[in-house]
Amino acid sequence: MSAEKTIFKRIIDGEIPARVVREDERFLAFHDVSPQAPVHVLVIPKHEVRSLADVQAADAEWLGPMMVFIRDVAESLGLEPGYRVVTNIGSDGGQSVPHLHFHILGARPMAWPPG
Ligand code: 5GP
Repeated sequence: MSAEKTIFKRIIDGEIPARVVREDERFLAFHDVSPQAPVHVLVIPKHEVRSLADVQAADAEWLGPMMVFIRDVAESLGLEPGYRVVTNIGSDGGQSVPHLHFHILGARPMAWPPG
């Protein structure tokens, strides 16, 4: 990783505030500062990984629990009609923060294809 902290690392380290939804020893969920849906929450691992493109086979150990954590966050947000989970990878993928994160978007119908 580069020496400069990402904005998400600064949130993990408590240097900038976030509206936390759920947290455990490995993962953190907090509201996106610029919501693209009535509910827009980001879920990140507390350790630094640039994106899904950087994960290795050994990362299966925490990626499975992360999916369950995302499900638990969505359930706590009351998104019974459905929701979308997205991770952007690299510049063409629309990734602006180089720390793996999953967007949970909901409380409105989601268009498909996304454009
Ligand atoms: P990406 O474009 O990398 O997939 O998503 C990054 C997301 O982080 C964006 O939706 C953006 O609004 C959000 N974001 C950027 N800076 C902050 C911040 O300081 N606090 C919070 N809560 N969200 C942020």
